[in-house]
Amino acid sequence: MSLENQNISVDQLCHVIDLLNPTIDDYIYLCDFQHDFFYISPHATERFSMTKNCFYGFDEGLEEFVWSEDLPALRQEIQDIIVNKERTNHNMEYRWRDQQGQPVWINCRGVIVRDDSNPLYMIGCINEIGEKQKADNISGLLGESSLKDYIDRLSSYKSHVYLLRLGIDDFGAINEKYGVEYGNTIIKKTAECIARCLYANQKLYRMIGDEFIVVDPSSKNIEDIIGLYKGIRQTIDYFVEENHYKAIYTISGGIFCVENINDYIYSDIMKYTEFALNEAKMKGKNTYYIFNDNDYQRFLKRRKLTQALRKSINQNFDRFGVYLQPLFYPDSNELFGAEALMRFDTDEFGAIAPKEFIPILEETGLIIPAGRWIIHQSLLMCKEIQKSIPHFKISINISHIQVTKSDLLSELLLAIDEYQVDPSTVIVELTESGILELDKNINKVWTQLSEKGVKLALDDFGTGYSNFHYLNDLKPDIIKIDRSFTSKAVQSEYDYKLLSLLSHMVHHLNLKICIEGIEIEEEREIIKTLAPDYFQGFYFGRPSAYQQFVDMFVKREN
Ligand code: C2E
Ligand code: CA
Ligand code: CA
Repeated sequence: MSLENQNISVDQLCHVIDLLNPTIDDYIYLCDFQHDFFYISPHATERFSMTKNCFYGFDEGLEEFVWSEDLPALRQEIQDIIVNKERTNHNMEYRWRDQQGQPVWINCRGVIVRDDSNPLYMIGCINEIGEKQKADNISGLLGESSLKDYIDRLSSYKSHVYLLRLGIDDFGAINEKYGVEYGNTIIKKTAECIARCLYANQKLYRMIGDEFIVVDPSSKNIEDIIGLYKGIRQTIDYFVEENHYKAIYTISGGIFCVENINDYIYSDIMKYTEFALNEAKMKGKNTYYIFNDNDYQRFLKRRKLTQALRKSINQNFDRFGVYLQPLFYPDSNELFGAEALMRFDTDEFGAIAPKEFIPILEETGLIIPAGRWIIHQSLLMCKEIQKSIPHFKISINISHIQVTKSDLLSELLLAIDEYQVDPSTVIVELTESGILELDKNINKVWTQLSEKGVKLALDDFGTGYSNFHYLNDLKPDIIKIDRSFTSKAVQSEYDYKLLSLLSHMVHHLNLKICIEGIEIEEEREIIKTLAPDYFQGFYFGRPSAYQQFVDMFVKREN
Protein backbone atom coordinates (compact mmCIF):
# COMPACT_ATOMS: atom_id res chain seq x y z
CA MET A 1 0.00 0.00 0.00
CA SER A 2 1.55 3.27 -1.01
CA LEU A 3 1.33 6.53 0.82
CA GLU A 4 -0.57 8.44 -1.85
CA ASN A 5 -3.31 5.82 -1.71
CA GLN A 6 -3.80 6.53 1.95
CA ASN A 7 -4.48 10.17 1.33
CA ILE A 8 -2.02 11.37 3.91
CA SER A 9 -1.19 14.99 3.44
CA VAL A 10 2.26 16.52 3.73
CA ASP A 11 0.97 18.49 6.73
CA GLN A 12 -0.05 15.31 8.50
CA LEU A 13 3.31 13.71 7.85
CA CYS A 14 5.12 16.75 9.20
CA HIS A 15 2.93 16.60 12.26
CA VAL A 16 3.92 12.95 12.83
CA ILE A 17 7.58 13.90 12.54
CA ASP A 18 7.06 16.64 15.14
CA LEU A 19 5.31 14.21 17.45
CA LEU A 20 8.16 11.73 17.26
CA ASN A 21 10.80 14.40 17.78
CA PRO A 22 11.25 14.00 21.57
CA THR A 23 11.43 10.21 21.32
CA ILE A 24 14.33 9.66 18.97
CA ASP A 25 17.96 10.73 18.58
CA ASP A 26 17.94 10.19 14.85
CA TYR A 27 16.28 12.57 12.40
CA ILE A 28 13.21 11.79 10.34
CA TYR A 29 12.84 13.72 7.12
CA LEU A 30 10.38 14.18 4.33
CA CYS A 31 11.17 15.34 0.86
CA ASP A 32 8.18 16.46 -1.16
CA PHE A 33 9.33 16.47 -4.76
CA GLN A 34 6.07 17.90 -6.16
CA HIS A 35 6.28 21.06 -4.07
CA ASP A 36 10.09 21.14 -3.77
CA PHE A 37 9.68 21.10 0.00
CA PHE A 38 11.91 19.60 2.72
CA TYR A 39 11.03 18.85 6.33
CA ILE A 40 13.20 17.32 9.07
CA SER A 41 12.81 16.59 12.82
CA PRO A 42 13.08 19.97 14.55
CA HIS A 43 16.03 18.97 16.76
CA ALA A 44 18.21 18.73 13.63
CA THR A 45 18.58 22.52 13.85
CA GLU A 46 20.33 22.12 17.20
CA ARG A 47 22.92 19.78 15.73
CA PHE A 48 23.49 20.85 12.14
CA SER A 49 24.17 24.18 10.54
CA MET A 50 20.56 24.72 9.45
CA THR A 51 18.50 27.73 10.46
CA LYS A 52 15.07 26.15 9.85
CA ASN A 53 13.85 22.58 9.91
CA CYS A 54 11.64 23.13 6.84
CA PHE A 55 12.13 25.02 3.64
CA TYR A 56 11.19 25.29 -0.02
CA GLY A 57 13.89 25.14 -2.68
CA PHE A 58 15.46 21.84 -1.82
CA ASP A 59 18.50 21.97 -4.11
CA GLU A 60 19.64 25.37 -2.87
CA GLY A 61 18.73 24.66 0.76
CA LEU A 62 21.10 21.71 0.90
CA GLU A 63 24.07 24.00 0.58
CA GLU A 64 23.44 25.32 4.07
CA PHE A 65 24.24 22.06 5.85
CA VAL A 66 25.69 19.48 3.42
CA TRP A 67 29.50 19.25 3.42
CA SER A 68 30.43 21.02 0.19
CA GLU A 69 32.70 18.26 -1.10
CA ASP A 70 29.82 15.81 -0.88
CA LEU A 71 27.30 18.02 -2.66
CA PRO A 72 28.09 16.85 -6.22
CA ALA A 73 27.65 13.20 -5.29
CA LEU A 74 24.40 13.97 -3.44
CA ARG A 75 23.03 16.00 -6.36
CA GLN A 76 23.90 13.18 -8.72
CA GLU A 77 22.02 10.77 -6.46
CA ILE A 78 18.92 13.04 -6.34
CA GLN A 79 18.99 13.35 -10.10
CA ASP A 80 19.10 9.58 -10.37
CA ILE A 81 16.13 9.25 -7.99
CA ILE A 82 14.16 11.69 -10.17
CA VAL A 83 14.88 10.10 -13.54
CA ASN A 84 15.28 6.44 -12.66
CA LYS A 85 11.80 4.94 -12.41
CA GLU A 86 13.15 1.75 -10.88
CA ARG A 87 14.41 3.54 -7.81
CA THR A 88 12.41 2.88 -4.67
CA ASN A 89 15.15 3.36 -2.08
CA HIS A 90 17.81 5.82 -1.15
CA ASN A 91 20.79 4.86 1.01
CA MET A 92 23.83 7.05 1.16
CA GLU A 93 26.63 7.89 3.53
CA TYR A 94 28.03 11.36 3.28
CA ARG A 95 28.77 14.39 5.44
CA TRP A 96 26.69 17.20 6.85
CA ARG A 97 28.07 20.24 8.67
CA ASP A 98 27.53 20.66 12.37
CA GLN A 99 26.88 23.99 14.11
CA GLN A 100 30.62 24.64 14.28
CA GLY A 101 31.07 23.88 10.60
CA GLN A 102 32.77 20.52 11.26
CA PRO A 103 31.92 17.44 9.15
CA VAL A 104 29.53 14.87 10.61
CA TRP A 105 29.15 11.55 8.86
CA ILE A 106 25.54 10.58 8.35
CA ASN A 107 23.73 7.68 6.80
CA CYS A 108 20.58 8.81 5.01
CA ARG A 109 18.04 6.17 4.12
CA GLY A 110 14.59 6.63 2.66
CA VAL A 111 11.76 5.12 0.67
CA ILE A 112 10.70 6.79 -2.53
CA VAL A 113 7.00 7.03 -3.30
CA ARG A 114 6.30 7.68 -6.97
CA ASP A 115 3.45 7.82 -9.41
CA ASP A 116 3.92 6.34 -12.88
CA SER A 117 6.82 8.51 -13.86
CA ASN A 118 7.73 10.97 -11.11
CA PRO A 119 8.82 10.69 -7.50
CA LEU A 120 6.24 12.20 -5.15
CA TYR A 121 7.87 11.90 -1.75
CA MET A 122 10.85 10.45 -0.10
CA ILE A 123 10.55 9.76 3.59
CA GLY A 124 13.18 8.26 5.81
CA CYS A 125 15.68 8.58 8.57
CA ILE A 126 19.12 10.09 9.06
CA ASN A 127 21.58 8.56 11.54
CA GLU A 128 24.93 9.80 12.62
CA ILE A 129 27.46 7.09 11.97
CA GLY A 130 30.63 8.61 13.38
CA GLU A 131 29.92 7.38 16.86
CA LYS A 132 29.23 3.89 15.67
CA GLN A 133 32.83 3.43 14.56
CA LYS A 134 31.70 3.49 10.98
CA ALA A 135 33.90 6.46 10.46
CA ASP A 136 37.34 7.27 11.66
CA ASN A 137 37.80 10.43 13.66
CA ILE A 138 41.55 10.73 12.97
CA SER A 139 41.42 10.76 9.20
CA GLY A 140 37.85 12.05 8.95
CA LEU A 141 37.09 9.15 6.61
CA LEU A 142 34.63 6.33 6.57
CA GLY A 143 35.89 3.01 7.84
CA GLU A 144 35.77 -0.58 6.75
CA SER A 145 32.12 -1.34 7.51
CA SER A 146 31.12 1.51 5.22
CA LEU A 147 33.47 0.20 2.56
CA LYS A 148 31.71 -3.14 2.74
CA ASP A 149 28.30 -1.48 2.41
CA TYR A 150 29.50 0.54 -0.55
CA ILE A 151 30.94 -2.48 -2.35
CA ASP A 152 27.72 -4.40 -1.72
CA ARG A 153 25.71 -1.50 -3.09
CA LEU A 154 28.04 -1.04 -6.02
CA SER A 155 27.58 -4.62 -7.14
CA SER A 156 23.92 -3.91 -7.92
CA TYR A 157 24.66 -1.40 -10.66
CA LYS A 158 28.35 -1.57 -11.57
CA SER A 159 30.50 -4.54 -12.38
CA HIS A 160 33.91 -3.16 -13.35
CA VAL A 161 35.73 -1.56 -10.44
CA TYR A 162 39.31 -0.68 -9.55
CA LEU A 163 40.56 -0.88 -6.00
CA LEU A 164 43.69 0.83 -4.83
CA ARG A 165 44.91 -0.11 -1.37
CA LEU A 166 47.43 2.37 -0.05
CA GLY A 167 49.77 1.92 2.88
CA ILE A 168 52.24 4.34 4.42
CA ASP A 169 55.71 2.79 4.25
CA ASP A 170 57.36 2.11 7.61
CA PHE A 171 54.60 3.88 9.51
CA GLY A 172 55.67 2.10 12.70
CA ALA A 173 58.98 3.95 12.54
CA ILE A 174 57.17 7.33 12.35
CA ASN A 175 55.15 6.44 15.45
CA GLU A 176 58.24 5.30 17.28
CA LYS A 177 60.31 8.30 16.35
CA TYR A 178 57.77 11.11 16.73
CA GLY A 179 55.06 9.61 18.95
CA VAL A 180 51.54 8.41 18.29
CA GLU A 181 50.04 11.89 18.17
CA TYR A 182 52.31 12.95 15.34
CA GLY A 183 51.60 9.60 13.68
CA ASN A 184 47.91 10.51 13.78
CA THR A 185 48.69 13.85 12.15
CA ILE A 186 50.50 12.01 9.35
CA ILE A 187 47.45 9.75 8.88
CA LYS A 188 45.20 12.80 8.68
CA LYS A 189 47.49 14.64 6.28
CA THR A 190 47.91 11.57 4.12
CA ALA A 191 44.12 11.17 3.98
CA GLU A 192 43.87 14.78 2.82
CA CYS A 193 46.59 14.27 0.21
CA ILE A 194 44.78 11.23 -1.17
CA ALA A 195 41.38 12.95 -1.11
CA ARG A 196 42.80 15.87 -3.07
CA CYS A 197 43.66 13.54 -5.95
CA LEU A 198 40.21 11.98 -6.23
CA TYR A 199 37.22 12.68 -8.47
CA ALA A 200 33.74 12.75 -6.95
CA ASN A 201 32.96 9.12 -7.66
CA GLN A 202 36.28 7.75 -6.44
CA LYS A 203 35.63 6.92 -2.81
CA LEU A 204 38.18 6.80 -0.04
CA TYR A 205 38.05 4.67 3.11
CA ARG A 206 40.37 4.30 6.06
CA MET A 207 41.40 0.75 6.85
CA ILE A 208 43.24 -0.49 9.90
CA GLY A 209 46.53 1.12 10.84
CA ASP A 210 48.16 3.14 8.11
CA GLU A 211 46.09 1.81 5.22
CA PHE A 212 43.47 3.36 2.96
CA ILE A 213 41.34 2.03 0.12
CA VAL A 214 40.16 3.95 -2.92
CA VAL A 215 37.19 2.39 -4.69
CA ASP A 216 37.12 3.59 -8.23
CA PRO A 217 34.22 2.58 -10.47
CA SER A 218 35.07 5.24 -13.05
CA SER A 219 38.62 4.60 -14.29
CA LYS A 220 38.56 3.25 -17.82
CA ASN A 221 41.83 1.39 -17.85
CA ILE A 222 44.77 0.35 -15.73
CA GLU A 223 46.79 3.43 -16.74
CA ASP A 224 44.17 5.65 -15.09
CA ILE A 225 44.49 3.92 -11.73
CA ILE A 226 48.30 3.81 -11.97
CA GLY A 227 48.13 7.53 -12.75
CA LEU A 228 46.02 8.04 -9.64
CA TYR A 229 48.60 6.20 -7.51
CA LYS A 230 51.43 8.30 -8.96
CA GLY A 231 49.45 11.48 -8.40
CA ILE A 232 48.91 10.56 -4.76
CA ARG A 233 52.60 9.79 -4.33
CA GLN A 234 53.50 13.17 -5.77
CA THR A 235 51.00 14.99 -3.54
CA ILE A 236 52.55 13.30 -0.51
CA ASP A 237 56.02 14.31 -1.71
CA TYR A 238 54.81 17.93 -1.84
CA PHE A 239 53.40 17.60 1.66
CA VAL A 240 56.71 16.21 2.97
CA GLU A 241 58.45 19.18 1.39
CA GLU A 242 55.93 21.71 2.77
CA ASN A 243 56.34 20.06 6.17
CA HIS A 244 60.06 20.89 5.93
CA TYR A 245 61.00 17.22 5.80
CA LYS A 246 60.11 16.69 9.44
CA ALA A 247 58.89 13.19 8.67
CA ILE A 248 60.04 11.82 5.35
CA TYR A 249 57.80 9.01 4.25
CA THR A 250 56.46 7.29 1.16
CA ILE A 251 53.37 5.34 0.22
CA SER A 252 52.89 2.01 -1.54
CA GLY A 253 49.86 0.95 -3.56
CA GLY A 254 48.29 -2.41 -4.32
CA ILE A 255 45.93 -2.37 -7.30
CA PHE A 256 43.18 -4.92 -7.84
CA CYS A 257 41.12 -4.74 -11.04
CA VAL A 258 37.70 -6.29 -10.63
CA GLU A 259 36.21 -7.31 -13.97
CA ASN A 260 32.90 -8.31 -12.50
CA ILE A 261 32.35 -7.49 -8.87
CA ASN A 262 29.55 -10.04 -8.61
CA ASP A 263 32.11 -12.81 -9.08
CA TYR A 264 33.74 -12.01 -5.74
CA ILE A 265 32.82 -12.00 -2.11
CA TYR A 266 33.89 -9.01 -0.06
CA SER A 267 36.42 -10.89 2.08
CA ASP A 268 38.23 -12.16 -1.03
CA ILE A 269 38.42 -8.67 -2.47
CA MET A 270 40.02 -7.55 0.79
CA LYS A 271 42.49 -10.47 0.70
CA TYR A 272 43.56 -9.63 -2.86
CA THR A 273 44.06 -5.95 -2.14
CA GLU A 274 46.03 -6.84 0.99
CA PHE A 275 48.20 -9.18 -1.03
CA ALA A 276 48.72 -6.54 -3.73
CA LEU A 277 49.80 -3.91 -1.21
CA ASN A 278 52.11 -6.40 0.45
CA GLU A 279 53.72 -7.23 -2.89
CA ALA A 280 54.24 -3.53 -3.59
CA LYS A 281 56.07 -3.30 -0.27
CA MET A 282 58.09 -6.39 -1.09
CA LYS A 283 59.06 -4.76 -4.39
CA GLY A 284 60.90 -2.17 -2.33
CA LYS A 285 58.09 0.21 -1.19
CA ASN A 286 57.22 3.61 -2.70
CA THR A 287 55.83 1.74 -5.67
CA TYR A 288 52.70 -0.07 -6.88
CA TYR A 289 51.85 -3.63 -7.74
CA ILE A 290 48.94 -4.90 -9.85
CA PHE A 291 47.27 -8.07 -8.55
CA ASN A 292 48.15 -11.12 -10.61
CA ASP A 293 46.57 -14.49 -9.93
CA ASN A 294 49.71 -16.51 -10.76
CA ASP A 295 51.67 -14.57 -8.16
CA TYR A 296 48.85 -15.05 -5.70
CA GLN A 297 48.76 -18.81 -6.27
CA ARG A 298 52.54 -18.93 -5.77
CA PHE A 299 52.11 -16.98 -2.56
CA LEU A 300 49.42 -19.40 -1.36
CA LYS A 301 51.62 -22.38 -2.18
CA ARG A 302 54.47 -20.81 -0.30
CA ARG A 303 52.24 -20.23 2.69
CA LYS A 304 51.05 -23.83 2.62
CA LEU A 305 54.64 -25.02 2.33
CA THR A 306 55.66 -22.90 5.29
CA GLN A 307 52.87 -24.48 7.33
CA ALA A 308 53.83 -27.98 6.17
CA LEU A 309 57.52 -27.39 7.00
CA ARG A 310 56.67 -26.09 10.45
CA LYS A 311 54.28 -28.95 11.09
CA SER A 312 56.79 -31.57 10.06
CA ILE A 313 59.55 -30.02 12.16
CA ASN A 314 57.20 -30.28 15.14
CA GLN A 315 56.46 -33.88 14.22
CA ASN A 316 60.04 -34.98 14.49
CA PHE A 317 60.91 -34.13 10.88
CA ASP A 318 58.58 -36.85 9.58
CA ARG A 319 58.44 -35.43 6.03
CA PHE A 320 62.12 -34.49 5.81
CA GLY A 321 64.80 -36.69 4.33
CA VAL A 322 68.53 -36.74 3.68
CA TYR A 323 69.89 -37.87 0.34
CA LEU A 324 73.54 -38.56 -0.27
CA GLN A 325 75.30 -37.78 -3.53
CA PRO A 326 78.71 -39.37 -4.08
CA LEU A 327 81.95 -37.48 -4.77
CA PHE A 328 84.77 -39.34 -6.53
CA TYR A 329 88.50 -38.99 -7.10
CA PRO A 330 88.89 -38.58 -10.87
CA ASP A 331 91.89 -40.81 -11.40
CA SER A 332 91.09 -43.86 -9.35
CA ASN A 333 87.30 -43.51 -9.50
CA GLU A 334 87.46 -44.18 -5.80
CA LEU A 335 84.72 -42.83 -3.52
CA PHE A 336 85.83 -39.65 -1.74
CA GLY A 337 82.65 -39.04 0.24
CA ALA A 338 79.15 -37.68 -0.13
CA GLU A 339 77.26 -34.43 0.00
CA ALA A 340 74.19 -34.53 2.24
CA LEU A 341 71.18 -32.95 0.54
CA MET A 342 67.94 -32.15 2.30
CA ARG A 343 64.63 -33.44 0.95
CA PHE A 344 61.05 -32.53 1.82
CA ASP A 345 57.86 -34.24 0.83
CA THR A 346 54.21 -33.11 1.01
CA ASP A 347 50.86 -34.77 0.42
CA GLU A 348 49.51 -31.91 -1.64
CA PHE A 349 52.48 -31.07 -3.88
CA GLY A 350 54.63 -34.20 -3.67
CA ALA A 351 58.40 -33.81 -3.32
CA ILE A 352 59.52 -30.18 -3.15
CA ALA A 353 62.83 -29.08 -4.65
CA PRO A 354 65.36 -27.68 -2.15
CA LYS A 355 65.60 -24.54 -4.31
CA GLU A 356 61.97 -23.96 -3.33
CA PHE A 357 61.89 -24.95 0.33
CA ILE A 358 65.39 -23.92 1.52
CA PRO A 359 64.67 -20.19 0.96
CA ILE A 360 61.44 -20.59 2.97
CA LEU A 361 63.35 -22.27 5.79
CA GLU A 362 65.86 -19.42 5.69
CA GLU A 363 63.26 -16.68 5.63
CA THR A 364 61.28 -18.14 8.52
CA GLY A 365 64.32 -19.10 10.58
CA LEU A 366 63.20 -22.74 10.42
CA ILE A 367 66.57 -23.49 8.80
CA ILE A 368 67.97 -23.48 12.33
CA PRO A 369 66.13 -26.60 13.59
CA ALA A 370 66.19 -28.18 10.11
CA GLY A 371 69.91 -27.47 9.71
CA ARG A 372 70.59 -28.92 13.16
CA TRP A 373 68.60 -32.01 12.21
CA ILE A 374 70.52 -32.58 8.97
CA ILE A 375 73.85 -32.21 10.82
CA HIS A 376 72.82 -35.03 13.17
CA GLN A 377 71.42 -37.23 10.40
CA SER A 378 74.48 -36.75 8.19
CA LEU A 379 76.95 -37.47 10.97
CA LEU A 380 75.01 -40.58 11.94
CA MET A 381 75.13 -41.84 8.35
CA CYS A 382 78.79 -40.89 8.03
CA LYS A 383 79.59 -42.81 11.19
CA GLU A 384 77.90 -45.92 9.80
CA ILE A 385 79.63 -45.68 6.41
CA GLN A 386 83.02 -45.09 8.05
CA LYS A 387 82.70 -48.54 9.59
CA SER A 388 83.43 -49.88 6.09
CA ILE A 389 85.25 -46.87 4.56
CA PRO A 390 87.15 -45.11 7.39
CA HIS A 391 88.27 -42.09 5.34
CA PHE A 392 84.75 -41.43 3.98
CA LYS A 393 83.95 -37.68 4.02
CA ILE A 394 80.58 -36.10 4.67
CA SER A 395 79.87 -32.68 3.22
CA ILE A 396 77.11 -30.68 4.90
CA ASN A 397 75.50 -27.53 3.51
CA ILE A 398 75.25 -24.69 5.98
CA SER A 399 73.15 -21.59 5.51
CA HIS A 400 74.45 -18.19 6.55
CA ILE A 401 71.32 -17.88 8.74
CA GLN A 402 72.59 -20.79 10.84
CA VAL A 403 75.89 -19.01 11.32
CA THR A 404 74.39 -15.65 12.29
CA LYS A 405 71.30 -16.74 14.22
CA SER A 406 72.39 -19.88 16.05
CA ASP A 407 75.46 -21.17 17.80
CA LEU A 408 76.39 -23.30 14.84
CA LEU A 409 79.99 -23.63 15.81
CA SER A 410 79.50 -25.27 19.19
CA GLU A 411 76.48 -27.27 17.98
CA LEU A 412 78.46 -28.78 15.14
CA LEU A 413 81.45 -29.56 17.31
CA LEU A 414 79.22 -31.10 19.99
CA ALA A 415 77.51 -33.29 17.38
CA ILE A 416 80.86 -34.37 15.91
CA ASP A 417 81.88 -35.31 19.42
CA GLU A 418 78.61 -37.12 20.12
CA TYR A 419 78.92 -39.39 17.07
CA GLN A 420 82.67 -39.67 17.49
CA VAL A 421 83.41 -38.75 13.94
CA ASP A 422 86.90 -37.51 13.09
CA PRO A 423 86.43 -33.72 12.46
CA SER A 424 88.77 -33.90 9.49
CA THR A 425 86.24 -36.12 7.68
CA VAL A 426 83.55 -33.44 7.99
CA ILE A 427 83.21 -30.74 5.34
CA VAL A 428 81.10 -27.64 5.81
CA GLU A 429 79.80 -26.10 2.57
CA LEU A 430 78.94 -22.44 2.48
CA THR A 431 77.94 -20.52 -0.63
CA GLU A 432 79.69 -17.38 -1.72
CA SER A 433 76.45 -15.43 -1.52
CA GLY A 434 76.08 -16.71 2.04
CA ILE A 435 79.55 -15.43 2.89
CA LEU A 436 78.67 -12.01 1.49
CA GLU A 437 75.72 -11.90 3.90
CA LEU A 438 77.94 -12.84 6.80
CA ASP A 439 80.61 -10.26 6.29
CA LYS A 440 82.81 -9.99 9.40
CA ASN A 441 81.34 -12.87 11.37
CA ILE A 442 82.49 -15.43 8.92
CA ASN A 443 86.20 -15.18 9.51
CA LYS A 444 85.81 -16.04 13.18
CA VAL A 445 83.58 -19.08 12.63
CA TRP A 446 85.55 -20.25 9.61
CA THR A 447 88.87 -20.06 11.49
CA GLN A 448 87.56 -21.82 14.58
CA LEU A 449 86.14 -24.68 12.52
CA SER A 450 89.46 -25.04 10.69
CA GLU A 451 91.33 -25.14 13.96
CA LYS A 452 89.24 -28.12 15.02
CA GLY A 453 90.12 -29.86 11.78
CA VAL A 454 86.75 -29.44 10.03
CA LYS A 455 87.20 -28.88 6.28
CA LEU A 456 85.62 -25.94 4.57
CA ALA A 457 84.20 -25.81 1.07
CA LEU A 458 83.28 -22.67 -0.85
CA ASP A 459 80.12 -23.74 -2.69
CA ASP A 460 78.61 -22.52 -5.96
CA PHE A 461 81.83 -20.88 -7.06
CA GLY A 462 81.43 -19.10 -10.35
CA THR A 463 77.75 -18.24 -10.07
CA GLY A 464 78.23 -14.54 -10.17
CA TYR A 465 79.58 -13.31 -6.88
CA SER A 466 83.09 -14.72 -7.29
CA ASN A 467 85.23 -12.50 -5.17
CA PHE A 468 88.67 -13.95 -5.54
CA HIS A 469 89.92 -12.38 -2.35
CA TYR A 470 87.89 -14.97 -0.42
CA LEU A 471 90.29 -17.60 -1.69
CA ASN A 472 93.10 -15.83 0.04
CA ASP A 473 91.24 -14.42 3.07
CA LEU A 474 89.26 -17.49 4.04
CA LYS A 475 91.57 -20.17 2.73
CA PRO A 476 88.85 -22.75 2.14
CA ASP A 477 89.99 -26.34 1.68
CA ILE A 478 87.80 -26.98 -1.33
CA ILE A 479 86.35 -24.82 -4.08
CA LYS A 480 83.18 -26.29 -5.58
CA ILE A 481 82.49 -25.25 -9.14
CA ASP A 482 78.79 -24.85 -9.84
CA ARG A 483 77.09 -26.79 -12.63
CA SER A 484 76.27 -23.60 -14.55
CA PHE A 485 80.01 -22.92 -14.89
CA THR A 486 80.80 -26.55 -15.70
CA SER A 487 78.28 -26.77 -18.52
CA LYS A 488 79.51 -23.51 -20.05
CA ALA A 489 83.11 -24.75 -19.89
CA VAL A 490 82.33 -27.85 -21.89
CA GLN A 491 80.58 -25.81 -24.56
CA SER A 492 82.73 -22.74 -25.03
CA GLU A 493 86.46 -22.45 -25.41
CA TYR A 494 86.51 -19.16 -23.57
CA ASP A 495 84.80 -20.61 -20.51
CA TYR A 496 86.99 -23.67 -20.66
CA LYS A 497 90.08 -21.44 -20.56
CA LEU A 498 88.59 -19.47 -17.70
CA LEU A 499 87.93 -22.61 -15.71
CA SER A 500 91.39 -23.90 -16.55
CA LEU A 501 93.00 -20.72 -15.22
CA LEU A 502 90.84 -20.85 -12.12
CA SER A 503 91.83 -24.44 -11.56
CA HIS A 504 95.53 -23.51 -11.83
CA MET A 505 95.10 -20.67 -9.44
CA VAL A 506 93.26 -22.82 -6.90
CA HIS A 507 95.96 -25.46 -7.06
CA HIS A 508 98.63 -22.80 -6.82
CA LEU A 509 97.04 -21.72 -3.53
CA ASN A 510 97.15 -25.35 -2.39
CA LEU A 511 93.39 -25.69 -2.36
CA LYS A 512 91.32 -28.53 -3.82
CA ILE A 513 88.79 -28.15 -6.57
CA CYS A 514 85.57 -30.11 -6.97
CA ILE A 515 83.71 -29.91 -10.28
CA GLU A 516 79.97 -30.35 -9.87
CA GLY A 517 77.22 -31.20 -12.30
CA ILE A 518 78.90 -33.68 -14.62
CA GLU A 519 76.06 -35.44 -16.38
CA ILE A 520 77.58 -37.25 -19.35
CA GLU A 521 80.73 -39.07 -20.39
CA GLU A 522 81.77 -36.29 -22.78
CA GLU A 523 81.67 -33.74 -19.97
CA ARG A 524 83.77 -35.98 -17.78
CA GLU A 525 86.39 -36.35 -20.52
CA ILE A 526 86.69 -32.61 -21.08
CA ILE A 527 86.68 -31.74 -17.38
CA LYS A 528 89.24 -34.41 -16.60
CA THR A 529 91.82 -32.45 -18.61
CA LEU A 530 91.54 -29.69 -15.99
CA ALA A 531 92.87 -32.08 -13.35
CA PRO A 532 90.16 -31.47 -10.74
CA ASP A 533 90.51 -33.12 -7.34
CA TYR A 534 86.95 -34.40 -7.07
CA PHE A 535 84.03 -35.08 -9.35
CA GLN A 536 80.35 -34.82 -8.50
CA GLY A 537 77.41 -35.21 -10.85
CA PHE A 538 74.56 -37.34 -12.12
CA TYR A 539 77.04 -39.21 -14.32
CA PHE A 540 78.66 -40.65 -11.22
CA GLY A 541 75.59 -40.93 -9.10
CA ARG A 542 72.40 -39.10 -8.30
CA PRO A 543 71.51 -38.10 -4.77
CA SER A 544 69.89 -41.13 -3.17
CA ALA A 545 68.45 -42.32 0.11
CA TYR A 546 70.87 -43.80 2.64
CA GLN A 547 70.28 -47.50 1.97
CA GLN A 548 70.37 -47.07 -1.79
CA PHE A 549 73.58 -45.07 -1.47
CA VAL A 550 75.15 -47.82 0.62
CA ASP A 551 74.06 -50.52 -1.85
CA MET A 552 75.30 -48.62 -4.87
CA PHE A 553 78.50 -47.00 -3.67
CA VAL A 554 79.66 -48.27 -0.30
CA LYS A 555 79.36 -51.99 -0.90
CA ARG A 556 81.06 -51.54 -4.29
CA GLU A 557 84.10 -50.06 -2.61
CA ASN A 558 84.58 -53.09 -0.44
P1 C2E B 1 74.17 -27.45 -4.01
O1 C2E B 1 74.73 -27.33 -2.65
O2 C2E B 1 74.91 -26.84 -5.13
O3 C2E B 1 73.89 -28.99 -4.26
C1 C2E B 1 74.09 -29.61 -5.47
C2 C2E B 1 72.85 -29.63 -6.26
O4 C2E B 1 73.13 -30.01 -7.59
C3 C2E B 1 71.87 -30.70 -5.75
O5 C2E B 1 70.56 -30.21 -5.97
C4 C2E B 1 72.14 -31.85 -6.69
O6 C2E B 1 71.04 -32.73 -6.80
C5 C2E B 1 72.39 -31.12 -7.95
N1 C2E B 1 73.20 -31.90 -8.89
C6 C2E B 1 74.22 -32.72 -8.58
N2 C2E B 1 74.74 -33.25 -9.71
C7 C2E B 1 74.04 -32.74 -10.75
C8 C2E B 1 74.10 -32.91 -12.19
O7 C2E B 1 74.89 -33.64 -12.73
N3 C2E B 1 73.21 -32.21 -12.91
C9 C2E B 1 72.29 -31.38 -12.36
N4 C2E B 1 71.46 -30.74 -13.15
N5 C2E B 1 72.20 -31.20 -11.02
C10 C2E B 1 73.08 -31.88 -10.23
P2 C2E B 1 69.46 -30.23 -4.87
O8 C2E B 1 69.56 -31.43 -4.03
O9 C2E B 1 68.21 -29.93 -5.58
O10 C2E B 1 69.85 -29.02 -3.94
C11 C2E B 1 69.80 -27.73 -4.40
C12 C2E B 1 70.41 -26.77 -3.44
O11 C2E B 1 69.68 -26.70 -2.23
C13 C2E B 1 71.81 -27.16 -3.01
O12 C2E B 1 72.69 -26.80 -4.02
C14 C2E B 1 71.97 -26.35 -1.77
O13 C2E B 1 72.28 -25.02 -2.06
C15 C2E B 1 70.58 -26.40 -1.19
N6 C2E B 1 70.54 -27.45 -0.16
C16 C2E B 1 70.28 -28.76 -0.27
N7 C2E B 1 70.33 -29.36 0.93
C17 C2E B 1 70.65 -28.40 1.82
C18 C2E B 1 70.85 -28.38 3.25
O14 C2E B 1 70.80 -29.39 3.95
N8 C2E B 1 71.14 -27.18 3.83
C19 C2E B 1 71.24 -26.04 3.09
N9 C2E B 1 71.52 -24.90 3.73
N10 C2E B 1 71.06 -26.02 1.76
C20 C2E B 1 70.78 -27.18 1.14
CA1 CA C 1 76.49 -27.78 -1.72
CA1 CA D 1 77.13 -26.57 -5.31
